[in-house]
Amino acid sequence: MSTIFVPKETQPGELRVAATPETVKRLVKEGFAVQVAASAGETASFADRDYEAAGATIAASGAWPAADVVVKVAPPTPEEARALRAESLLVSFLAPHKNLDAVQALAERRVSALAMELVPRITRAQPMDALSSQASIGGYKAVLVAAARLGKYFPLLMTAAGTIRPAKVVIMGAGVAGLQAIATAKRLGAQVEVSDVRAAVKEQVQSLGGKFIELPMQESGEGAGGYAREMGEDFLKKQREIVSRHVAGADVVITTAQVPGKRAPVLLTRAMVEGMRRGAVVVDLAVDSGGNCELSQPDREVNHNGVHVLGFTNLPASMPEDASTLYARNVLALLLSTSKGGAVTLDLADDVVGPTLLTHAGEIRHEPTAALLAAGSAAR
Ligand code: NAD
Repeated sequence: MSTIFVPKETQPGELRVAATPETVKRLVKEGFAVQVAASAGETASFADRDYEAAGATIAASGAWPAADVVVKVAPPTPEEARALRAESLLVSFLAPHKNLDAVQALAERRVSALAMELVPRITRAQPMDALSSQASIGGYKAVLVAAARLGKYFPLLMTAAGTIRPAKVVIMGAGVAGLQAIATAKRLGAQVEVSDVRAAVKEQVQSLGGKFIELPMQESGEGAGGYAREMGEDFLKKQREIVSRHVAGADVVITTAQVPGKRAPVLLTRAMVEGMRRGAVVVDLAVDSGGNCELSQPDREVNHNGVHVLGFTNLPASMPEDASTLYARNVLALLLSTSKGGAVTLDLADDVVGPTLLTHAGEIRHEPTAALLAAGSAAR
C-alpha cells in the first residue's frame, strides 16, 4: 500500500489544495493511505474533519512525512523538493522553466515528478487536463473581475430613467480561457468581439454568440497539437491595426493569447490603451508569460489615463473551492491511471505518463528543461 501526502500550499496567494475530501475518499477506497497536512484545505473551504471523515489522517504542520506520493498544486520550492523521500512520486504543476533549482533538486532526489502542465491534450487524458480545468476558471473570473471594476452595467437595460447600452467586451485569444470568458460575458449581457489566429475557433466563437474579428491570414495560425503558432512581427502589427478599431470602442478587453514555450504576443500596445475610453478595464491573463498588454504588471492594477489595466498570474486560485475540486479530480484521474490496488507503477511507455514525467531515476526527461539546465551550468 502506498502512502499519499497532501501538504499545505506555501506559495503566497495559493489558496488551492491538491486533494479534496471527495478525491481522498476514492483514493482510500482504491487502497492508498492518505495523510493531509493540518489545515491544508482550509483556504479552499475543506475542513480537517471532512478529510478525516473521508478516511485520511491529519499530519501536524511542519516537516513533511516520508510519503511514497506527494500531491501539490504550486511547484515545490527547492527546499520542498529536497524534503521529498528519495525515489518518491510527486504530482504537481511544476512550471519547470521557472523553477530550475527545484527541478535539479527533484532529479538529485531521484524523484519521479509528473508535471500537470505536461499532460498531453489527447482524448484519454482529458479528465487529467488541469491546464484546461484551471484556464476555464481564469476566463470566467476575468469577466467577473472586469465587471466588478467597470463603472457600467454589462447588460442592455431599459429603465424608467432611460436606456443603458450593453457593455462592449473584446476578447483576444479564444482558447480554453477565452471561450469561457466569451460565454460568461454573453451570460451577463455584453456584446462580445473576439480575435484569434486559429481559423478553427471562428465557429466556436460564433456558437457562443461572439463576433469574430477577421484577420488577413496569409498563412495558417495553427501550430502543433491544436495550439497557435508564433506569428511574425509584420502580422502582429497588422493585427494590432485591425484590433485597435475594436478596442477603441470597448468597455472591457480581456487578453488570454499564448503560444506554448514562447513569450505571449503583444496585442495591446500603450498607444492602443491610450486610444481607449476613460473607465475602461483591461484584464491580462497572459501577464505571467510576458503579457499581451504592454502596460500590464503581474498581480497589480495600473491606471493609465483612466484605463484600469489588471494583470493576474493566478486567477484560478481566487476561486479556490471549485478550482481545487476540479484540480483534485485531474490529479486523481492521473493517479488512478498509474496505479492498481493502492500501489503506483509508472509505465514509461504509456502515452500519458511518458510525456508528463519531468524527472525520473535521476534524469530530466523533458528536453526543453534539460536544455535550459545545461545552458545554465555552461554559463556558470
Ligand atoms: P493557449 O493558452 O496556448 O492560447 C490561448 C489562445 O491564444 C489560443 O486560442 C491561441 O490560438 C490564441 N493566440 C495565440 N496567438 C494569438 C494572437 N496573436 N492573437 C490572438 N490569439 C492568439 O491555448 P489553450 O487555451 O491552452 O488551448 C488551445 C487549444 O488547444 C484549444 O482551443 C483546443 O483546440 C486545444 N485543446 C485540446 C484539448 C484536448 O483535446 N484534450 C484540451 C484543451 C485544449
